[in-house]
Amino acid sequence: GRGFRPEGTVITFPNGVQVGGENVTIMAGPCSVESREQIRLSAQQVKAAGGQFLRGGAYKPRSSPYSFQGMGVDGLKLLREVGDETGLLVITEVMEISQIEVMLPYIDCFQVGARNMQNFNLLRELGHVRKPVLLKRGIAATIEEVLLSAEYILSGGNYDLMLCERGIRTFETATRNTMDISAIPVLKKLTHLPVLGDPSHGVGKREFVPAMALASVAAGADGLLMEMHPNPDKAMSDGAQSLYPEQLEKLVEQLRQLAPVV
Ligand code: PEP
Ligand code: MN
Repeated sequence: GRGFRPEGTVITFPNGVQVGGENVTIMAGPCSVESREQIRLSAQQVKAAGGQFLRGGAYKPRSSPYSFQGMGVDGLKLLREVGDETGLLVITEVMEISQIEVMLPYIDCFQVGARNMQNFNLLRELGHVRKPVLLKRGIAATIEEVLLSAEYILSGGNYDLMLCERGIRTFETATRNTMDISAIPVLKKLTHLPVLGDPSHGVGKREFVPAMALASVAAGADGLLMEMHPNPDKAMSDGAQSLYPEQLEKLVEQLRQLAPVV
């Protein structure tokens, strides 16, 4: 895929929102879709803060099989419903091939999670869909491995691909992962693809998320994927790293000092 669009890939979504241009794109919402009320309020808050995409997991790759696994198709329907109500695009995680067809009518962008970055069969299949994909860096993946995973999608003919740094596992335990800010300019140099930062999974603690979001954009990120919950203390997953709605609003204002948010 490298060199195919040397001037840089710009992905245009059905409502005209572009990722990869001069602007910074904000994708935000809860880790998981939990209920109509929760996801509707989330969408309203993301919209009010100035976001373009609503995120929320319907299929959740939980480390424990005993943790909440997501609402499935009901969650997809709710995402579409409140996305349309608020005029937000919808991004949500696909975990296996059989979910692709199910998801297509409801979503605007597939998210491949860190744990599936090297699920090569899934990647190959996503190369054959005509819907954008955001590919997250694996928990212990090198930059080269990210690029090779990206090739699985690009070589199938799907060029609407974004990469996302979401923190890697290191010896450090003060944060959940180590947000590798340097991956952003490196990936920008090595590919023509939009690169986003996910500071929520990057650090795992909400108080450090704004700093890593600003750092990502200063380092050249084309957008941010961030967790925000109307009531993070009651969240069914990743509450500790989910921003309060007012934090997101303030952060977007700060981001506007660095780049246009549209
Ligand atoms: C998520 O976005 O909620 C998620 C599970 O992310 P990751 O795949 O980066 O762990
Ligand atoms: Mn999460």
